Amino acid sequence: MIVHAGYRGSAEPGAFRFGPQFSSTYTTPGDPAAHGLTYGRFHNPTWTAWEDALEVLEGGPAIAYASGMAAVAAVVGATLKPGDVLVLPSDSYYTTRMFASAWLERIGVRVRLAPTRDNAQAEALDGARLLWIETPTNPQLDVCDIRALAQAAKARGTLVAVDNTTATSYLQRPLELGADFSVASDTKAIAGHSDVVLGHVAARDADHLTALRTWRTQHGAIPGPMEVWLAHRSLATLPLRLNQQCASAQRLAEFLDGQAAVDAVCYPGLPRHPGHAIARRQMNAFGSVVSFDLATRLRAETFLRSLALVREATSFGGVHSMAERRARWGGDAISEGFIRFSVGCESPGDILEDVDTALRQVQR
Ligand code: PLP
Repeated sequence: MIVHAGYRGSAEPGAFRFGPQFSSTYTTPGDPAAHGLTYGRFHNPTWTAWEDALEVLEGGPAIAYASGMAAVAAVVGATLKPGDVLVLPSDSYYTTRMFASAWLERIGVRVRLAPTRDNAQAEALDGARLLWIETPTNPQLDVCDIRALAQAAKARGTLVAVDNTTATSYLQRPLELGADFSVASDTKAIAGHSDVVLGHVAARDADHLTALRTWRTQHGAIPGPMEVWLAHRSLATLPLRLNQQCASAQRLAEFLDGQAAVDAVCYPGLPRHPGHAIARRQMNAFGSVVSFDLATRLRAETFLRSLALVREATSFGGVHSMAERRARWGGDAISEGFIRFSVGCESPGDILEDVDTALRQVQR
């Protein structure tokens, strides 16, 4: 289904595939209501095809944004007002937490932080308007039970949004697990080739969808047609890419787990990971990111410098493996030697060999 998602029906004549539509405005004589297309900030046929495809991926209608953070901001903007309580994971993507403290608290939204692990956010729900879930978290890959938390939230009238960036809705479908909003940075695995910045939100409630669309139109965080077109082209290979990446990530995690140079390995696919049983239940596979601790900054930098195939870069989910020392950005409760490793589509043997060689340099 994903391969054909958002494309024309098989019997329709014409181009097998249209290019992106670049138009900031449309010829619209007379009453604008008589025209399907009016202005480039309101709609674009390239977005529509992409959103149709995302609906297949998500199991619910989706709206595309200019970035993952634009998608995060749209959910928050469409649901919260001054005085409302937002429950955020204390270990969520750090820019989401920074956005909450820099902008939301300033306009009177009260932000409550609680860890992802052990579904600890359930304890913070009383009186909350929106529960924000991220599972597995970036970068520590902690896991919580979306269905259980959504049930607890629903019982209190609290809305639920899941930042599904690390998993993608190919591996885990938040709307089916009870969330009101499924949010993703498509910059990562969905577009998958490290060449575009994009995001989207999927939701089922018609009022939520209207608010999300109006937010995009009025705040102007619209995606570029070229970026959307590239992402749509990449979506067809998402299952192929992720199947390979997840299998290689599992192998890498198991390899690292046995290494003397490595202090700790975080990967939900390892049976001793505290969230393994939940991840097994709610995910189809355990993702393409493996995090591990080399204890010190020096050891981590030696490791990164010694990699030949894997590049040092920030992001994840793409076809090229990349790794970084995450503490260089600040904002996360991690050691100076903490590495976030994004497993790409290279042959797993090549990735393991590169990591093995670099780890030997750490041990010297
Ligand atoms: N959410 C998560 C979990 C992320 O990791 C990121 C980016 O790394 C974002 C949201 C923001 O996405 P973008 O960089 O596309 O704005």
